[in-house]
Amino acid sequence: MSTPKLRVSMQTQAGLGTFSKWTHRFMDVAEMVASWSKDEFTKVGAVIVDDEKRIISTGFNGFPIGVDDEVPERHERPTKYFFFEHAERNALNFANVDVAGMTMVVNCFPCADCMRGVLQNGITTVLCPEPDRTRPDRFASCNAAYDMAMDKGISLVEYSK
Ligand SMILES: [Zn+2]
Repeated sequence: MSTPKLRVSMQTQAGLGTFSKWTHRFMDVAEMVASWSKDEFTKVGAVIVDDEKRIISTGFNGFPIGVDDEVPERHERPTKYFFFEHAERNALNFANVDVAGMTMVVNCFPCADCMRGVLQNGITTVLCPEPDRTRPDRFASCNAAYDMAMDKGISLVEYSK
């Protein structure tokens, strides 16, 4: 199977012209939360914020509640993919309110699984870096995530410092 071409084309900061100090603050929080992940290689943090700049929920990639994350074999590829829940879905699952219309700030481009969660929960803006171009194994998932976001009309904004 040949590697798909990455087709993701995000809105840029220049296009919106609205990156505020708050945007950077929320990404700082996402990166701090990401640092709590026990995944040695991939540390992802997501923050859901409302229109009043209030942080409604956060999440990082980790094992589901109640699942023993001290078992070394569970951290090895490919087994770990079964055990780690992603930051975006943890943030969605732990929000105690309806997050429809809110913004998600995440320090990694969402995979297709997480983008489905974003759509189903009514998040309208996702702010994240562009996909990692050194990881062609993820391009298919990124392309699907992008297509779903575009179909739904989600504002997918590229974050850069
Ligand atoms: Zn994901």
